[in-house]
Amino acid sequence: MAHYFIPKRCATSNKIMYHDKVQAQHAADQCFTERGSELWVYRCQYCGSWHLTSHDPANAHTYVPLNQQIKPHSRKKGYKPRRR
Ligand SMILES: [Zn+2]
Repeated sequence: MAHYFIPKRCATSNKIMYHDKVQAQHAADQCFTERGSELWVYRCQYCGSWHLTSHDPANAHTYVPLNQQIKPHSRKKGYKPRRR
């Protein structure tokens, strides 16, 4: 019986969806081993899954750094200094 994993694809980017960063990184490592092409992993802002990209995230506009997702703002939004 042939049973293999059929990856889901993102409706927005049409990229393969990975459940977590480890899976995405593993796929990126495989791609580098098989094809010699380096891939970056990033978390999709639309579907919340992880995707691979051949573009350096440092140059991509859509890339959201990890530390921004965990801590979006260091300062509170809408903070107003109290008047006396
Ligand atoms: Zn996505």
